[in-house]
Amino acid sequence: MHTIEAIPAFRDNYIWVIRNNQYAAAVDPGDAAPLLYHLESEGLALVAILNTHHHADHVGGNLELKEKYSCPIYGPSKEFIPGMTHPLSEGQQVLLPGLGMTLDVLDIPGHTSGHIAYLWEGRLFCGDTLFGCGCGRVFEGTMEEMHASLMKLSSLPGDTLVYCAHEYTLANIRFARKVEPGNGDLVEREEEAMALMKNKLPTLPSTIELEKRTNPFLRCGVSEVFESAARHSASRPKNELEAFIILRAWKNAF
Ligand code: ZN
Ligand code: FE
Repeated sequence: MHTIEAIPAFRDNYIWVIRNNQYAAAVDPGDAAPLLYHLESEGLALVAILNTHHHADHVGGNLELKEKYSCPIYGPSKEFIPGMTHPLSEGQQVLLPGLGMTLDVLDIPGHTSGHIAYLWEGRLFCGDTLFGCGCGRVFEGTMEEMHASLMKLSSLPGDTLVYCAHEYTLANIRFARKVEPGNGDLVEREEEAMALMKNKLPTLPSTIELEKRTNPFLRCGVSEVFESAARHSASRPKNELEAFIILRAWKNAF
């Protein structure tokens, strides 16, 4: 039986730990210290590191952890990942014998140009691409790539659990409510998120279904979102991609 735990790191990162009684795999260990503390206090051996992209807040703990556990490090083939032993791209699978797990790899460029996600039995580990009620900034890839990656994730089954790498949900909901004040699901989501945060609990995982109902970056074709983007821009967007580009720029300055 597996469980998934959130290990907070830095200000707002989560290192997701997938574990059984003996072994653990860690997604995006940006900092070794909080993970080491957790593994040692739970008596777990780390059998794999799964990186989604190369940013320091996701890979910063790799070498220290590899030194201690000699574990393989998986990551995107298109990026430099410290200590990487298994470069991956879409269509490949990750087999973790100690945990009896097989994960699928998806290419989701945009935040970085080689960004990948891991999908395991209806659970999506998507790094800095899809966030609770938001999406990552477009640093290295193109807006077209980011939009296509988000559409790809939104086409996954609605009950897919979304484990993203940052606790940004509440701030994202504030922006979403500005964009789509008529969306009642956002009011409900904000209340739930505030209650969780008050109890120092993660607002994650969310689900693809909840993101489709509330995340403006997955809703560029919904008329209230589209019209809001149009009002915010000097020239009217011609399609959903252009509305997405306006929203992403608006959020950067929000
Ligand atoms: Zn990042
Ligand atoms: Fe990050």
